[in-house]
Amino acid sequence: MLQELRLTVVVENSAPFANSSIWAQHGLSIFLDLDYGRERMKLLLDTGACPEVMLHNADALHIDLSQLDVICLSHGHYDHTGGLMGVLERVGRRVCILAHPEIFAPKLKMQPFLKFIGPPFSRREAEAAGAVMLDCLGPAAVAPDVMTTGEVARREDFEKVEGFWTVKEGRYSEDSIPDDQALAIKIEGKGLAVITGCAHAGIINTIKHAQRITGVQELYAVIGGFHLSGAGEKRLDATAEALRKLDPAMVRPGHCTGQRAVCRLQEALGERCLPLAAGDTIQL
Ligand SMILES: [Zn+2]
Ligand SMILES: [Zn+2]
Repeated sequence: MLQELRLTVVVENSAPFANSSIWAQHGLSIFLDLDYGRERMKLLLDTGACPEVMLHNADALHIDLSQLDVICLSHGHYDHTGGLMGVLERVGRRVCILAHPEIFAPKLKMQPFLKFIGPPFSRREAEAAGAVMLDCLGPAAVAPDVMTTGEVARREDFEKVEGFWTVKEGRYSEDSIPDDQALAIKIEGKGLAVITGCAHAGIINTIKHAQRITGVQELYAVIGGFHLSGAGEKRLDATAEALRKLDPAMVRPGHCTGQRAVCRLQEALGERCLPLAAGDTIQL
């Protein structure tokens, strides 16, 4: 049984002013140290946007990446996968990578013209560097009480994916980012912790999906990117209201959540909501 879980934010858009040894970068990486009594598991969710920042911050935070047991990738965007080749070099052996098969589909954005925003490496390059790619569409158990959500069911009508493009079966089309997923962790006596990458599927969709697949209704913590930076007022209001109803004890928005959304969530949730920064450690 999971006895203790310690999260360390390795890469995030902001870093503490007081500790200049940690770099800020648009991206996300969270290290999870899971204590099972006799055994410990070390898991990495996402790898930031580039090896330099990922490895610099891991060193500054005294995280030994050679000890990693599993790497989970929340989706294929570069700001979550970009540091992977550096991490694999540090691991120095074969290591399982849990991700949706579509992380390697073309990932495109108009900002203001066509840009590639997918992983800065191919599947073959990752495999040559030691990656054992576990392509999972649905949920996958990583450890007792810890699972990936797999594809997230999109049920909330206010949570829409916009502005991303891909090419599918020879057709240029809007990317719904089917690869987007999160971690769902049961914390004994407290409830469910949901750790997201970008939550492109919608943060409320992601939480409710995690509740369904784990069977745990009690929501304890929501941590990660909520992708609300470009969201309109309606969506911000609906998200804040839905989150208030879900009643989590701890909400730590970061990365692509956006300042406006963080303020709105703080209004709705008070002191339970605190923004995330690189170097933060969270005990669950
Ligand atoms: Zn993304
Ligand atoms: Zn992102």
